[in-house]
Amino acid sequence: VIEMTNVTKYFGEFKALDDVTLSVDRGERVVICGPSGSGKSTLIRCLNRLEAHDSGRIVVDGIELGDETANIRAVRQDVGMVFQQFNLFPHLTVLDNLMLGPMRVRGMDRAAAEALARQYLDRVHIPEQADKLPSRLSGGQQQRVAIARALCMEPAIMLFDEPTSALDPEMIREVLDVMAELAQTGMTMICVTHEMGFARKVADRMVFMAAGKIVEIAPPARFFTAPASRRARAFLDQIL
Ligand code: ATP
Ligand code: MG
Repeated sequence: VIEMTNVTKYFGEFKALDDVTLSVDRGERVVICGPSGSGKSTLIRCLNRLEAHDSGRIVVDGIELGDETANIRAVRQDVGMVFQQFNLFPHLTVLDNLMLGPMRVRGMDRAAAEALARQYLDRVHIPEQADKLPSRLSGGQQQRVAIARALCMEPAIMLFDEPTSALDPEMIREVLDVMAELAQTGMTMICVTHEMGFARKVADRMVFMAAGKIVEIAPPARFFTAPASRRARAFLDQIL
């Protein structure tokens, strides 16, 4: 469902992605890890054109990403994204945050959008928070609202960029649990995370990046016990 072929991305002279080739099947869960600055966020952001790649090919759900705005719009409707910062609208209630996309982008009427929003609030286990402003919620609850908001667009693919790294330790678990439950529904997921317990449990494949390149792709059982590259071994020694 995702094909990246020989993708390169520069920021000025700096090569943030260097000849990246990665394909992801429908229903697959991929976890990306690697040192700071290795290009993980850039890779994720290229998949919904928050960044434009300079060369190579990116095809998402059959749509090629290039300069065509119609394609970009189509891909963004197909791809949900959750960031480290929750990016909720602070002046809207939780429910209104969730209803906005379905009404504005998918053209749903209020009643249908509200039913959908409540369904996904249930899914992330905070139905009772519907009428609050985001600032009244804990970080973990806010991130679960952000996940529910992305799901309200009924995307084919979900991208996560370090969704728990801004959270206090006691809230990380509740967000990872929601992500693991989502994985069980068969959602295609690409997650940048350093939560290796989650990765071990949920990932079909681990992708290890360093200096803009994919250095290693392996199933978690092999990646965590016997990484092939010296750089992956050094990285794992540091974080485990
Ligand atoms: P982290 O673990 O710290 O989030 P990362 O692997 O996600 O790191 P990226 O954010 O993809 O790394 O950044 C890769 C490199 O590209 C970094 O050296 C970063 O400084 C650079 N970079 C990223 N975004 C920009 C930008 N908008 N302008 C210039 N340089 C950028
Ligand atoms: Mg990053």
